[in-house]
Formats: sequence, C-alpha cells, structure tokens
Amino acid sequence: MTASQQDIQAQLAALRNSYLLRLQQDWPEITAQAGQLLDESNTGWQSIAKTLKQRFHTLAGSAGTFGMPQLGQQAKALEMELDAWLNGGGRPETELKQQFLHMVQELSHHTSNKPEASAAPLFQPVDDEFTRKAHIAIFSKDADLGKQLTSAMDPFGHQVDSFQEFDALKAALTSDRPDVLILDMSGNRLPQGMKSLLQQLLIDEQSSMVLFIVGKKESFNHYLTAVRLGAGGYFIKPLDAAAIELRIQRLLTQRQQARFRILIVDDDVMLAQHYQLIIEQAGMEAKVVNDPTKMLIGLQGFQPDVILLDVNMPDCTGPELAQIIRFKDEWLGVPIVYLSSETDSQRQLDALVKAGDDFISKPITDQALAVTVFARAQRARQLAEMMTRDSLTGLLQHATVKERLSDEIAKAKRSKQELIVVMLDLDHFKRVNDQYGHLVGDQVISSLANLLQQKLRKTDVIGRYGGEEFLLALPDCSLQKAKSIIDGIRQSFQAIPFSGQEQSFQCTFSAGLARVDTSQSTDENIDRADQALYQAKHNGRNRVELA
Ligand code: GH3
Ligand code: MG
Ligand code: MG
Repeated sequence: MTASQQDIQAQLAALRNSYLLRLQQDWPEITAQAGQLLDESNTGWQSIAKTLKQRFHTLAGSAGTFGMPQLGQQAKALEMELDAWLNGGGRPETELKQQFLHMVQELSHHTSNKPEASAAPLFQPVDDEFTRKAHIAIFSKDADLGKQLTSAMDPFGHQVDSFQEFDALKAALTSDRPDVLILDMSGNRLPQGMKSLLQQLLIDEQSSMVLFIVGKKESFNHYLTAVRLGAGGYFIKPLDAAAIELRIQRLLTQRQQARFRILIVDDDVMLAQHYQLIIEQAGMEAKVVNDPTKMLIGLQGFQPDVILLDVNMPDCTGPELAQIIRFKDEWLGVPIVYLSSETDSQRQLDALVKAGDDFISKPITDQALAVTVFARAQRARQLAEMMTRDSLTGLLQHATVKERLSDEIAKAKRSKQELIVVMLDLDHFKRVNDQYGHLVGDQVISSLANLLQQKLRKTDVIGRYGGEEFLLALPDCSLQKAKSIIDGIRQSFQAIPFSGQEQSFQCTFSAGLARVDTSQSTDENIDRADQALYQAKHNGRNRVELA
C-alpha cells in the first residue's frame, strides 16, 4: 500500500466515524418523530410520516456504504412501510415498534464495526516521466532472432536485451525489469524454473511487465498454453517486427492515458465524499458536486468520463439533471449512471427512459462501485477515441486534424511564434500493396504513425490526412529545425524492415514543409506544404522540401 493509499484509508475511517456520530446525534430526533407517529391521538401524522420516510430513504442508501448493511435494509423496509401507510393504508403500529427497536439495537451493534477491506487500485497512476520507448528482453536459443529484433526495434528507439541462457535472463529480470519480455517457445521446451519465474514476475502488483510468446504455430492449443503462462501477445516466426511494435505502442499508450475522471452529484455530503475516496483509491480522479444546481459548472471544468448521479435530491431530481446534461451535444457521449437507493424497478426504468445509461443501487460495496465506474469509464474513453481517431493508426482523422491546425494557426497569430505545417506521403505505396498485399501495406502505415508519435513532441499535432498521407503541425519551431526533425524521421523510417512474403523490404516517404502564414487560411497553408511535397516527389522522392 502506498503512502497516498494509506492516507485514503485514514480518510475513509474518519469519514465513517463522522457518519456514525451524525447518526447518533440524529437518533433521538428520529425516535421522537416515530413516537409522534405512533401516537393514536396525533391527527397530523402524515407530514411526520413523510419526513421520516425521507430520513429512512437516505439511511437505506448510506448505511450499507458505511459498514451497516442490515441497518440499511431495515431502513429500506421502514421506508416502504411508511410509503404504504401514506398511500391509503393505516398505521399498524405494533409492527413498526418492533422493527424500530431492532434498528436501535442494530445501531449499537454496528458502531464498533471494522472497515471493509480496501479496493486495490484498478489503474496504475500515470508516470510523469513517461516515454514511448520500451525496454524489451528477448529469450531465445536462436541468437539470430535476438539480432533481428534488435535491428527492427532500433529505429523506434526501443532498447532490446537478448538472452540465450536462463540464468543470465533470471539475473537480469530480477534487477531491472523490462516493459516487455519476449519468450521464444518455438524451438525447445521451457527451461526448468521458467514457469515459476514468470508467475513471480507477472503476479507482482507493482510490475507492469508484459509477456509475448513466440510459438511454433497459430493454433488454439498454442494460444491456450500462452494465455496460461500469462502472455499478452502471441507471435510466430519469422517475427513480424511491425506487428510487435504496434502491440508495444498500444501497451504504452494505454499506460500513458490520463486517469479516468468521475463526477459525483449527490446532496448527501458524507456519502459523496465516501464515493470520492473509493474512486480515488481505485486510481481514478473524482470530483463532488453537492448542489445539483451547480452541476453544469462542475461539468465544464472537469470533463468527466462518467457522471454518477443521485436520484433523489432536493430542488431537482437526478433524471431531471440528466435531461439537462443531454441538452448539450458535447456531453452526449458521457455515460450517466444513477446512484440510487431506489429499488422500485419501474421507477428506475422510467428514469432511464428520460435520460441516463445505468443504475447502481445503494448500498453498493466499495469494490463493486469502483469496478462498475471503472468499466463504464473505460468503455466511454474507447468510444470517444474511436470517434475522433483513425482506427488503423490511432491518429487524428482528416477533419479533426484540420480543426486542430486551425486552432494552432490562431494560437500562433496571438503568440507570434513560428508554426510549421508538414504534408507527408509514402513513396510508391501502390507498389507495396501490389507486391505484398493490403494488410502488409496497413502495417507500413501504422508503423509510420507510431514513429511519428514517438519522435515528435506531445504538443505537435499529428493526423492521418488521407490513405497514406499525413498532416503535421509543429508549433514553436523554426523551418530549419522542422526540416532536420522530419529528415531524422525519414532516415529512421527507411531503416525499418517490413516482412513481405519471402524477403523483407523497406519503405520511404517524401515530405513538404511550409512556415504558416497567419494571414492565410488553413487551406492555403496546407496547399503550400502540399506543393513542397509535390516538389519532393518530383525531385526523386525520399526527401524533404521546403515551400
Ligand atoms: P507516390 O510516391 O507518388 O506517392 O506514389 P504512390 O503509389 O504512393 O501514390 P498513389 O497516390 O498513386 O497511391 C497511393 C496508394 O495508397 C493507393 C492506395 O491503394 C494506397 N492506400 C491508400 N490508403 C491505404 C490504406 O489504408 N491501406 C493500404 N494498405 N493502402 C492504402
Ligand atoms: Mg504515395
Ligand atoms: Mg498519396
């Protein structure tokens, strides 16, 4: 458990104590109100019943969360009982008396409860020192395989350590763990001790090492063996370096993702704070809004991946809030999950018909809350990515990259900094497709995309402009500097070996660069870069030209 996790544990415990304290303070009043309710001579019992019903409703939703599930269940039963009375029944007071006594007893039992076991983080916090370069270890009796992989990964800046002896591998893995371990099982059996070493390495929570297996052939049984060893990828010989690199990039991108952001809207201050701590403990970010009328402000600044919405709040209900959120196109993709002690399924369905995506019924265990929210957020992120990102390369799509370039031009105009726009096109790509097939062509495209992402800065804009055409915007960069960067990428790219049918082949690209003229339109600026690209093609390809 990390220091911040311990901190969250302490906060959770403190919160739970405050909850118990509040409950104990409220109890005399609840008891008094129940007394008035049961008093046969009291003719105005309905208004007391309504107040009490609301109190039990709140209790039903929160008691479980703070470690008193039975109290919560009984509160729920009392709430429903009062509901029946108010809707035409009567006051069968003896029953209520008994239940009430029960609840008081429960309360005293549960005040000495231990806190629930903590939820493990579902998401490793983002590493600020993050780089797109991976450290790879390969274990193979075949020395050539190691050499081949080393030269294939070199252009991407990945470091490859090659091992032929188990003892050397074991020593290296214990001292400095790689991001990826590639295990060649295509030749011999696994050496003694390898299985247990893998188990040890892959089980370790702190480790994010991923295992790739190089197997004999593609078959279900071979896949199954790999999965049982804990593999996250399976490849066969001859190694397809581009496919391995693509897989590594996906892993690195996943790790780089910003934490999921969860907005919690609940008028119950303590409950909301409890949810916040649970969500933070699971490695996500959470923000609480207690006043539903302030929700839009919370939404704006926070850009949540998921909104957790209480159903019953004063001033305005959860479904009403959800409908307001859906007025805005920009929030259409954000899942809304109701958090409610509502067990009335018809009412839940009515709420969903109005707006919203799912229900979580209070009380919910901490673990279940964290997992549900996490799964929702993950799916929402994937979908959001899919809408603006090209599926093959993960780069921005045509329209989005143009939009981003326009933004950058506007920024450059304000800051008076230089901005370079680049058009980049693969050379004789039609031939690649014709000779090696469309799938191999796709791999070339995605390798170039990966290389661009890896070699350019985070602030640079990278998009797939067309089939084998890319559009880049490099802010705060001189033309000469941009030329040397793109030329460096050109040289790295032409060194990447791609696997064709029999032999491997190389591929090149041409690029045209233009310094943005902020008095011109976005299209005019792109046009000038395009003309420079045309020059590069005309002058023999595999070169960079300036407008
Ligand atoms: P040049 O050097 O003049 O650019 O020649 P080229 O062959 O690259 O140019 P051309 O524009 O004639 O052909 C581009 C080819 O790129 C045609 C098309 O089939 C292929 N292409 C476009 N998009 C994709 C894609 O997503 N995947 C694959 N595999 N091929 C694509
Ligand atoms: Mg081309
Ligand atoms: Mg083209």
